[in-house]
Amino acid sequence: MKTKRIFIDKDNIDKELIEEAGRIIKEGGLVAFPTETVYGLGGDALNSFSSEKIYKAKGRPSDNPLIVHIASMEALDPITEDIPENAIKLSRAFWPGPMTLVFRKSERVPSETTGGLSTVAVRMPDNKVALSFIEASGGYIAAPSANRSGKPSPTSADRVMEDMDGIIDMVIDGGRSAIGLESTIIDVTEEIPMILRPGYINGEMIKRVTGSVSYDPAVFGKEEPGQKPKAPGMRYRHYAPRGQLVIVKGEKARVLSYMKGELEKCREKGISCGLMVCDLKDTVKDFEASCDLLFDMGSFEREEEIAANLYEALRSFDDRNIEKIYSMEFYTPKLGQAIMNRLIKAAGHMVIELGSD
Ligand code: AMP
Ligand code: MG
Repeated sequence: MKTKRIFIDKDNIDKELIEEAGRIIKEGGLVAFPTETVYGLGGDALNSFSSEKIYKAKGRPSDNPLIVHIASMEALDPITEDIPENAIKLSRAFWPGPMTLVFRKSERVPSETTGGLSTVAVRMPDNKVALSFIEASGGYIAAPSANRSGKPSPTSADRVMEDMDGIIDMVIDGGRSAIGLESTIIDVTEEIPMILRPGYINGEMIKRVTGSVSYDPAVFGKEEPGQKPKAPGMRYRHYAPRGQLVIVKGEKARVLSYMKGELEKCREKGISCGLMVCDLKDTVKDFEASCDLLFDMGSFEREEEIAANLYEALRSFDDRNIEKIYSMEFYTPKLGQAIMNRLIKAAGHMVIELGSD
């Protein structure tokens, strides 16, 4: 299959091209499209065959449900059984935006789209290209992130093409994703809204709207034996570069000196190695010379930048075939939980904790 790549400017949307993309979806095809979180791999959410195609294109287990993307509040009613009060409050506060709500599903949503669950996850993205594309497609786009399963999510059309060229019908290039982390998933079927996956909209922001919030234990990676995470996707190895990523935890000076030692060992053994760091200031050149690729994530004071860089960083180590990657922790105030949730998964929980002297 030839994958057509088109560019759409959000400030001057080409109607004809958007209609063409919409037609592909209506005919059961797949189109990757930009959102403010990451690029999505879209198919018709109400067509079971389209959902099956998405799983196949991604190589994703079919019990890991897809998020249904909508472009207006009116679209919510036909696909849900009921719309709880908290959902109305949250959607008023954060839609369009990086927040997904889990509802009881109506019969219109095929079980292939929801991985067999009786609930459906819904989001209205904050991206003009995405919204016009959803409208042109009939209003319901099922879309997981547009990467092959297990790999870091794509935040640009180039990264989508790397994984999906020849596999899907079209890629809409709408520039870099502004946020760069997947949406916060909140289960609103519970009395107290429950965060199933952390994201840009954090617990504090949700609590201000609903008065209370709870967390699925899987958010903290603390699954009790026999207890499954409520967002099935939290179970799988995810976001991972091909090389081994190791997170080093502790006081900054100790972390840096430990990394230095490890990089030297890699060099001696002829292992290619990389670093994910921020705020190194004067020492950055020194560290750059000690490894094969240093990815400067930005600054702790600009946490949005760290989030937006995360997946691009992970993929750029793959570009250079880096075998071992050391990363600092990025527990920033607002986005730290979401960033670290992804980073820890990408590292396969490989975290080295340096004690204090
Ligand atoms: P992705 O679009 O690749 O970020 O993956 C979608 C995420 O949403 C996965 O972690 C899914 O497990 C989760 N998800 C989708 N639908 C539901 C649902 N009905 N209940 C809970 N989690 C869901
Ligand atoms: Mg994903």
